[in-house]
Amino acid sequence: MTTIATTSLPAGVQRPGYDRAGLKSRVVHIGFGAFHRAHQAVMTDRVLNSLGGDWGICEVSLHSAGLLQALRGQDHLFTVLEKDGNGRQARIIGAVNESVIAAIEGIDAVLEKLAEPQVAIVSMTITEKGYCIEPGSGELDRANPRIQADILHPEAPGTVPGLLVEALRRRYARGLKPLTLLSCDNIPGNGHVVKRAVLGLAQARDPALAAWIEGHVSFPATMVDRIVPAATDETLAEITAILGVEDPCAIACEPFIQWVIEDNFVAGRPDWQRAGAQFVADVAPYEEMKLRMLNGSHSFLAWLGNLAGYQHISDCMADPCYRAAVAGLMAREQAPTLRLGADEVDLAAYAARLLERFANPELKHRTWQIAMDGTQKLPQRMLDPVRWHIAHGDVYPLLALGIAGWMRYVGGRDDLGAEIDIRDPLRDELRRIVDTSPEGEPRVRALLALRQVFGAGLADHDGFVAAVTQAYLGLARNGAKATVAAALPAGD
Ligand code: NAD
Repeated sequence: MTTIATTSLPAGVQRPGYDRAGLKSRVVHIGFGAFHRAHQAVMTDRVLNSLGGDWGICEVSLHSAGLLQALRGQDHLFTVLEKDGNGRQARIIGAVNESVIAAIEGIDAVLEKLAEPQVAIVSMTITEKGYCIEPGSGELDRANPRIQADILHPEAPGTVPGLLVEALRRRYARGLKPLTLLSCDNIPGNGHVVKRAVLGLAQARDPALAAWIEGHVSFPATMVDRIVPAATDETLAEITAILGVEDPCAIACEPFIQWVIEDNFVAGRPDWQRAGAQFVADVAPYEEMKLRMLNGSHSFLAWLGNLAGYQHISDCMADPCYRAAVAGLMAREQAPTLRLGADEVDLAAYAARLLERFANPELKHRTWQIAMDGTQKLPQRMLDPVRWHIAHGDVYPLLALGIAGWMRYVGGRDDLGAEIDIRDPLRDELRRIVDTSPEGEPRVRALLALRQVFGAGLADHDGFVAAVTQAYLGLARNGAKATVAAALPAGD
């Protein structure tokens, strides 16, 4: 079969300009999803193109096999298509040099790969739920049956924290060098999250191992940004037309890319700054900016847009009321809550750029995709800013509307009566609440009682409950479009 590895590609397609035979698996990555392909793999490929070197990536899959099998069939090469209203550029990424698929080679093969001496970084994009953290407390979720299984059978782990602890145990027992665990997921303090998950499990197993990990392994935090929608048949057909050959691993994304990283790598790293990454002492303020301004606005558009029947974020942005509402959300209710000073970031320019990026008609980023896993996303994207406003005696009508939008969304029907396929780690719990609590105020109260999402405090705060209930009742009575229009800040 002809693949991108065996055919000659059109001249406009950029290819790796370095010697791939010299690559070693110095980075092992867990989660060959859409984002990793268009972000960390691209950044590493840029470094290799500019400096050469041997920083190859070994891709690991714990659950599925299909995509990595396809990748193997094309010599681990894949295509990234960057596009917006101004044009498009296809690039073949060559930074991946091998892969291990647990479903085929077994979990021990994955563990042995992680325990190879040259491995310096284990990076991951496994989504929020991959860390098995309780969203409200930020601690390892010991009630999670998969974590319990990993505590009982640590040598054959089924979760990422379990995998990392067993791999580190092997390195420790063999006297190998420690490495860096690099989370590239959108979670506040992602470095701390992976550290807490790993140390929590290691402590349960062997305090000496936990002490070695704490003293030797590093967990730098990162802020990652690039909008990378899941690939659709349409995207893949567009890329086939450009390449002249199919690439089932191809992905399309926007041209914008940003990566802010805490410079704390115990076993070295690629010179990612050559690719545009920014190394800083403290990532937290950048992360907070991105989670609240970008992700918080994305969730607002996704829940309220999906309810109104808008399939894509760009469809929401074509509605002047949604555009104005999300601009108001950023300027009035998210930006003031941030720690970054005006000398570090021009927040008005950042927000304007975000509005432009959201409106990119080429991306077809589905509201349904962004709307999923709301219980994991709400705390950092909307609830923390609400707490800031409460502490500062401020109002937050658009945040309340976004939260109420999530509550309507998990009700399972949009404003046109169509059923919504709810995806969430707490889906069963959400369904039980929706089935047993009457529509209206009782439903709002029942959802607010989800302590692992809302924590203590908010559910008992009269002003918060009233603001969310009012927004919810507006959505139920008038639908999302009318409620968003009515919520526009004065003057917009
Ligand atoms: P995706 O669905 O394409 O990929 C998710 C990957 O995570 C898959 O490889 C899947 O196998 C793996 N995974 C999921 N649950 C897991 C678990 N329990 N254990 C181990 N692996 C698991 O999603 P994506 O768009 O690539 O997003 C991945 C991460 O990147 C998310 O945290 C997301 O917030 C972040 N991110 C995405 C974008 C974007 O635009 N797509 C932008 C910035 C950050």
